[in-house]
Amino acid sequence: MLIIGSHVSMSGSNMYLGSVMEALSYGSNAFMVYTGAPQNTIRKPIKDLMIEEAKVYMSEHGLSFDHVVVHAPYIINLANPDPEKRAFAISFLTEEVKRTQAMQAKQIVLHPGSAVGKDRVQAIKWIAEGVKKVIENTKDSNVKIALETMAGKGNEVGKTFEELKEIIDLVNEPNRVSVCFDTCHTHDAGYDVKENFQSVIEHFDQVVGTKYISVFHVNDSKNIKGASKDRHENIGFGEIGYDSLLKVIYHPDFNDIPKILETPYVDGKPPYKEEIEMIRNKVFIPNLKDIISQ
Ligand code: FE
Ligand code: FE
Ligand code: ZN
Repeated sequence: MLIIGSHVSMSGSNMYLGSVMEALSYGSNAFMVYTGAPQNTIRKPIKDLMIEEAKVYMSEHGLSFDHVVVHAPYIINLANPDPEKRAFAISFLTEEVKRTQAMQAKQIVLHPGSAVGKDRVQAIKWIAEGVKKVIENTKDSNVKIALETMAGKGNEVGKTFEELKEIIDLVNEPNRVSVCFDTCHTHDAGYDVKENFQSVIEHFDQVVGTKYISVFHVNDSKNIKGASKDRHENIGFGEIGYDSLLKVIYHPDFNDIPKILETPYVDGKPPYKEEIEMIRNKVFIPNLKDIISQ
């Protein structure tokens, strides 16, 4: 069965319940949320997240929490050279993992970090140290920390599969660490997702192991392969293209892995209902953006 959804919001009075409702309105059977604004670390207490209400609604509509993904805020940098900021990142991420667990989700996506002082070797050590501490702080949890493949914008760590492998090895907690494979990011990082996803995934398997992939972010890209830009485009409207993204989405090795769209809004409107329909129907709609913006 295709497990597909999108990023949805978790805000207002309905919080997590609202996320479930939004996902269902797009015809999704999976979704991803930030536990608050992605650009800050202000978070509501767990008791105010409407988790019980979300649970009831999920089961009434036959959705599984196995297909719910949390995304950590992207301002968190485990590789910050300032030790106080690194300590804050670790304590905040610890709380995020606890929230993820309380929300019954099985994984939290994390941008590995940015090598601010440009020393990537040191950055990778700090990231691994940080992830290890967060895992120690949440020993009773089985939530996975899914390290995202990055576009390589600025000094982002995780642009290559080798860097992710290094972090995974240093953390040495195979049951608690996984990978979020982002199609826009890997394309922007220089991997040939457009022409040869099969060889990219075989390369990933040799370096990291495909068993580590716990979620896909399916996005087209506004930029050419290797641009290191990280600008998402709607499915079929970018440099990767519809047919190539469909090969990722329907790859037989990843049937059980959630596919999450993080494509941009069109004229202020979420594109996910239409994009998911277009993916399920397996036929590209060239005027999809016009349909969405109507
Ligand atoms: Fe991300
Ligand atoms: Fe992503
Ligand atoms: Zn991105």
